[in-house]
Amino acid sequence: MSEAKHHRVLILGGGPAGYTAAIYAGRANMKPVVIQGMQPGGQLTITTDVDNFPGFENGVQGPELMEKIRAQAERFDTEMVFDAVTKTDLSQRPFKVTADSGDIYTCDSLIIATGASARWLGIPAEKTLNGFGVSACATCDGFFFKGHDVAVVGGGDTAVEEALFLTNFCNKVYLVHRRDELRAEKLMQDQMRANEKIVPVWDSVVEDIIGEAGKGGVSALKIRNVKSDEISELAVTGVFIAIGHTPNTKIFDGQLETDDAGYLITKPDSTATSIPGVFAAGDVQDKTYRQAVTAAGTGCMAALEAERFLNEQEGAAARI
Ligand code: NDP
Repeated sequence: MSEAKHHRVLILGGGPAGYTAAIYAGRANMKPVVIQGMQPGGQLTITTDVDNFPGFENGVQGPELMEKIRAQAERFDTEMVFDAVTKTDLSQRPFKVTADSGDIYTCDSLIIATGASARWLGIPAEKTLNGFGVSACATCDGFFFKGHDVAVVGGGDTAVEEALFLTNFCNKVYLVHRRDELRAEKLMQDQMRANEKIVPVWDSVVEDIIGEAGKGGVSALKIRNVKSDEISELAVTGVFIAIGHTPNTKIFDGQLETDDAGYLITKPDSTATSIPGVFAAGDVQDKTYRQAVTAAGTGCMAALEAERFLNEQEGAAARI
């Protein structure tokens, strides 16, 4: 077994929240270590153009944006580790983190920024056409479908919210749902019904996404009606999969307070979790906004709170 490496602050997750926490912790001379996981850069690395991150008047590619934030963190003495965390022990301080490589880390404060993963239907075309008309984020990519007909798949708050948002740009928005009843809250359902651009496609599932990667992109959806088994084609140039997200919290199972959907609960106006010294930032604790800029904002908060926590602990220890 390898010897544990001890750090004052350990950051789990290499998305906008984790990297921003590292910038702030690094600048506070805390020498942060970021365990980035197997997909450094987080969800933005599977997006193409990002037009809504402040400071890039002509937009920026998702992977490039993440490269820049990572490099900025490294400028302030951050150590980046390419490894995945497999186990955590938060029962006492120092907290203990075990990585896939077998390396063990201990830390006085922990910032969790492990994000959330969009759920996908499991159709191969979702992968091959990702970025070519297939997306899991209307706020990120909706603008590129100005004047087009698109589809949203799902029947929850996210699906209806994305469909409503897309009506700002799109000609027509099909809402493809596997039942004939929505899960979304009543107010949103009313807004949706009042919006003529949204056309529900009830009792239907997507069998395939038709199109070609590259210039052509998505051209249609192959839809199956679950009641009649009838197959039809829906001509769209974009499809937004909105069937929920899964927060990446499995490695903390039973240790931290979560809501029913598994998102970490943080105190109001804070990133503090149910364990003192453990902070959570970004999508792992946010199921409402899920934006790179809000993740970066909470990453900043987490680093400032971790610094304050350590100063209090170390001050108390010095007084004994
Ligand atoms: P939900 O789990 O609430 O809804 C997922 C939807 O996708 C359901 O309609 C479900 O169908 C459908 N679905 C799931 N799996 C499949 C599949 N394999 N094929 C086809 N359809 C599928 O997720 P949301 O992301 O919508 O919401 C998550 C949480 O975030 C909720 O608590 C929600 O209230 C909250 N939220 C709040 C917002 C707000 O307040 N503004 C905005 C966005 C989210 P079925 O209904 O049949 O199960």
